[in-house]
Amino acid sequence: MKRALWAVILVALGAALAGRIPLEWVLAPLLGVAIWSVGVASLGSLRRGGDHIPDGPPTPVEPEDGRVTYLCSGCGAEMLLLVRGSATPPRHCGERMHERTEVPHLN
Ligand SMILES: [Zn+2]
Repeated sequence: MKRALWAVILVALGAALAGRIPLEWVLAPLLGVAIWSVGVASLGSLRRGGDHIPDGPPTPVEPEDGRVTYLCSGCGAEMLLLVRGSATPPRHCGERMHERTEVPHLN
């Protein structure tokens, strides 16, 4: 499909350079395709940046498996995780927090 498209573009460019058709007839659709590609790519980057959005219902953290905390290396804030919404760690001070699991000591 792409080879056929490139063949059409090359034939159109050849015809335009030979003076058979105006050059704008070739450049305007190419500019439109370029603008469309940039728009779709920027929307795709917005979608990839949403990995913090949960893909399922929140799941409660079982206390038997250990305490899950998140630590901010910027300011030292620490959070206890009770319900997990997504696998991505939360952000604090503009950076991702570090996950730490404290396993309960069994006697
Ligand atoms: Zn912080």
